Amino acid sequence: MPKPKQNKKDSPKKVFLDKIPGRGMKNSFFGNFVIGVLVLFFVVSIYSLISSNKSKEEISISDLALSVKAGQIKEIRVTNSSIDATFQDGIIKTSKKEDSASFTDTLAAYGVTADQLDKVKVSVNQETGFLYWLINLSPILFPVLFIAVFIWIMSRQIKGAGMQAFSFGQSRARLTEPDDTKQRVTFKDVAGCKEAKEELSEIVDFLKNPKKFFEIGARIPKGILLMGAPGTGKTLLARAVAGEAGVAFFSISGSEFVEMFVGVGASRVRDLFQMAKKTAPAIIFMDEIDAVGRVRGGGLGGGNDEREQTLNQILVEMDGFEPTEKVIIIAATNRPDVLDPALLRPGRFDRRVTIDLPDRNDREEILKIHSKEKPFAEDVNLIVIAERTPGFSGADLYSLMNEAAILAARENRKKVSQFDLIRSIEKVMMGPERKSHILSRKEKEMTAYHEAGHAVAASVLPYADPVHKISIISRGRALGYVFKLPIEEKKLQSKKEFLDDITVALAGYVVEKNIYGDITTGPSNDLQVSTALARDMVTKYGMSENLGPVALEGVGGKTLFGRGINEKEYSEQVGALIDKEVSKIMKDALDKAEIIIKEHRPLLDIIAKRLIDKETIERDEFESILVANGIQPKRKENLS
Ligand code: ADP
Ligand code: MG
Ligand code: ZN
Repeated sequence: MPKPKQNKKDSPKKVFLDKIPGRGMKNSFFGNFVIGVLVLFFVVSIYSLISSNKSKEEISISDLALSVKAGQIKEIRVTNSSIDATFQDGIIKTSKKEDSASFTDTLAAYGVTADQLDKVKVSVNQETGFLYWLINLSPILFPVLFIAVFIWIMSRQIKGAGMQAFSFGQSRARLTEPDDTKQRVTFKDVAGCKEAKEELSEIVDFLKNPKKFFEIGARIPKGILLMGAPGTGKTLLARAVAGEAGVAFFSISGSEFVEMFVGVGASRVRDLFQMAKKTAPAIIFMDEIDAVGRVRGGGLGGGNDEREQTLNQILVEMDGFEPTEKVIIIAATNRPDVLDPALLRPGRFDRRVTIDLPDRNDREEILKIHSKEKPFAEDVNLIVIAERTPGFSGADLYSLMNEAAILAARENRKKVSQFDLIRSIEKVMMGPERKSHILSRKEKEMTAYHEAGHAVAASVLPYADPVHKISIISRGRALGYVFKLPIEEKKLQSKKEFLDDITVALAGYVVEKNIYGDITTGPSNDLQVSTALARDMVTKYGMSENLGPVALEGVGGKTLFGRGINEKEYSEQVGALIDKEVSKIMKDALDKAEIIIKEHRPLLDIIAKRLIDKETIERDEFESILVANGIQPKRKENLS
């Protein structure tokens, strides 16, 4: 892929070396260390060179005087206080004299006459050069230098640490450079997300060849908001855009803007945008932008001035740069409903891309991507796994693959088998099996009947999802579970399906009430879920007869585009009506469940007994029980 031409002067490396804390520092510390060692080496070698001069044989000044008297000396060279005497036979010996006294005076003091001295060639040179000073000062200079170098190295290190302490205001963005091939992600690594990829490849095109767009007067959006459930690959997609375009990629998470110190968030934003502009073309990626981008002035949690300032700064920066800057901002969130409307205004994050949970085909693709480097047994069929995992996100599928590999490794197998994958589906879905939790006999029996109640209702009701598995092995927080899966993937749900779902949920409660004459805390979750569902039917989907087609509550949650949390959109009377409708739905479903349980009591007993016995009933076995009791199992072939 062609890389964008970059000006040598401001290639990303140059700019960031000293900008990003902790990045340049390590290198320069090692640099200093090496320099320090070299300097030390240099000093030591000079010192030893000089001192090696002195290893010539020494002679005392009185002996030298005697030698002069005896006429054994040919030549004497005096340099400051040191004396080099060359004997007639060529041997050189050194001696010392006092600094203050002159050489001739010194010898005269030892009784050398002028005549005797005349026979010797005497040369005196007063040395004042560099070497002289070095020689004289080296005993002091050496330790001083040593200490200086030591302090220098230390101070560099401390400065590094100190710099970090003063770098709060600097952006904490992590930079992925375009030529970093190790971390590089491309669109090939992202399965599915077709719509998002299309939208983003436009951006890639622009970053690669901005001129083409400018010449025709096209304006490229500054901001793109990726919205989608957690784990659907938003972060991955953003990195893929950078990888495809081959530009610098700054990524920062919303929560990193706001950290401990007031005023830091805003200055980090400023710093981040500055860096990005210097390196342009570049992508700024703000992950989890809802951490800073929540509706301002909501008064929730006492208001957070720091967060608001940060958000304001983001808005200011986004307004402040020209479309010609070649910096594109990608943000990701799984809570678009809580974002401040100002962020979504034209000129800011005006492109919004929704990333859906993967459908069956996409799931298969994602599984394929993550099965690279994993040896599979022959029986592995990823299509089946994809079919069995509706509602799984990309991240879930990734961890499914990983769990399967771990299972295989734990059982000392070299290859991942289909069974590993299937076991991992449940594991990812509900957390690991709690083998350690042992139910008492009575608890076990009640749980078995409770789950059997769900299973019977689900098999009898025409619009409920068919049962895939029943178990009374506790998982996560549930004591037992009935695993239902839709026959086909559904985007829309109908009122009849909702009603049957509620009836199935209440069947467990009915069983406890009618068979044991007592109610445990077991069905509390069933009740919560079904009541919430009934309430949504009335207030969101217009599925109640008496209230009719009105949506009384926003779909996204309680604060939709700036409305406060306590603002009801309906009156007290309507509120009372809603409550009435909800309890009517629940009551009807309860009656229906009671009839079903009464009618199918023999089947209920059979399933419950089998459960107590085996703890788990798989789909095939369950269906043969149904057939034996005259109930047609729900299968794709039996539909339509
Ligand atoms: P998000 O940011 O939406 O919460 P991530 O991008 O962090 O999700 O995804 C987490 C992981 O899940 C990714 O690193 C990747 O391994 C996997 N994943 C998610 N979606 C996909 C996809 N469409 N294709 C391939 N892998 C995916
Ligand atoms: Mg993410
Ligand atoms: Zn239940």
